[in-house]
Amino acid sequence: EGLDVTYDGRVYTVRLQGDANAPPAEVLLPPDLPVEGKAFQQLAALAALKHPGGGTVKRVRATPDFHPGDSGVAIGSVVHTEGLVVPAAVGTDINCGMRLHVADLPVETFLARRDAFVERMKGHYFFGTRDVALGSRAVEALLRDGLPGWLLETMEAPLGMVAKADLGQLDRESARVYLGGALEGDPAWAPTGLRREGVVRDPGLATIGGGNHFVEVQRVEAVVDRARAWEWGVREGQLAFMIHSGSRDMGRHVGLTWLERTRAAWPVGAPFPESGILPLAEPEQVREYLRAEATAANYAFLNRLLLAELLRLTLRELFGDVEAPLVYDVPHNITLPWEGGWLARKGACPAEAEQPVIIPGSMGAASYLMVGLGNAEALASASHGAGRARSRFSMARGGADKREEALGLTGVDCISLRAERRIEEAPAAYKPIGPVVASQVEAGIVREVARMAPLMTFKA
Ligand code: 5GP
Ligand code: MN
Ligand code: MN
Repeated sequence: EGLDVTYDGRVYTVRLQGDANAPPAEVLLPPDLPVEGKAFQQLAALAALKHPGGGTVKRVRATPDFHPGDSGVAIGSVVHTEGLVVPAAVGTDINCGMRLHVADLPVETFLARRDAFVERMKGHYFFGTRDVALGSRAVEALLRDGLPGWLLETMEAPLGMVAKADLGQLDRESARVYLGGALEGDPAWAPTGLRREGVVRDPGLATIGGGNHFVEVQRVEAVVDRARAWEWGVREGQLAFMIHSGSRDMGRHVGLTWLERTRAAWPVGAPFPESGILPLAEPEQVREYLRAEATAANYAFLNRLLLAELLRLTLRELFGDVEAPLVYDVPHNITLPWEGGWLARKGACPAEAEQPVIIPGSMGAASYLMVGLGNAEALASASHGAGRARSRFSMARGGADKREEALGLTGVDCISLRAERRIEEAPAAYKPIGPVVASQVEAGIVREVARMAPLMTFKA
């Protein structure tokens, strides 16, 4: 439908018909993974983007978990630009990402206290039974400099839920956060709730967020690359904690503001692209947008860190002195400098050489810890999950088979306040993770390090 498409059994190449100047968009996709045509349309439109004031889209590539996005940009898109940026290619959940911890706690010991654990975590995540007080100076330092700034201020004036004993550990762990969790932001982008003198209590901080965001307890069921797993502190039989969350209201505020500004900045008289996706090209505005994005990204790094602190706190309460060290924390919605221009990932995990890559499956399937190979053809990016196969709406309202078995929910322990969440987010809503991962191993993008099986999943 208006697209030129070729497929070599591994990679699709798509282009808007009659637009020979646009770079082709590529999608790594094994033949047995179905994808809605709309996602290909969105990808081709992204590749064809132009700004009357200049700048170019150099390359567009999508990962095998690719599917249509609500905002016009397909989830799983990676776009390399020069002289322009595309705020919609990151969207409003800036620095949505994955964080993985492991703990040397036998699964039987943990499960023996399942109910107590669930009660406490429900309180923390859903009912606000914790105090996430921050000093205003720590907030400012976080937004400006990221985790290291926040940590420094917090060390001087410890406040709220972060245990003093954890501060040293948090300091060591910042090396295991992508880019150190330190982007160059601007506190002026703080929404009003964060602008307060003295003690700041942000009710959105350390909350998971809705939709498919989650905190999952898993068991490390297989280690494939023993040397690397050892180096990263991962061993078979360990408990793992996977956190999927983003920048909450902070990212929404920044994201929506810039979608609007980008529209307002579109040159008068120039026709709007049919796709509705607009780039930003004026250098001062590009700089300002990237600053704003970085500010929200810094907030998301702290959000995931605090979600993990609540887990650690609860583990210590129930099981004594258990450590739960960080394996890695990595964003999958972000714009970063790339070969003289920028690379925007929307639902794609950086897969740079030697770096950990986290690929979740679903609450009923395995999740993977991989290592990146820095594959330039794939723009050093891997899938950030299995990818949605069926919309939330079609899961909950459609004529779909609602039996537990058909939904893949047998044996799934999903903790949520909304009963429908279990169905909207059922394993059957996602693509099979096996071929998604295998195709990326085959293409030389990632290698497997370890595989985890879900034990329980918290979804708001
Ligand atoms: P996103 O919301 O960032 O686009 O998607 C994240 C990915 O997480 C999805 O593609 C899916 O594979 C995975 N995912 C969604 N829900 C769950 C869950 O409850 N548990 C696990 N392990 N993975 C999930
Ligand atoms: Mn998100
Ligand atoms: Mn996400």
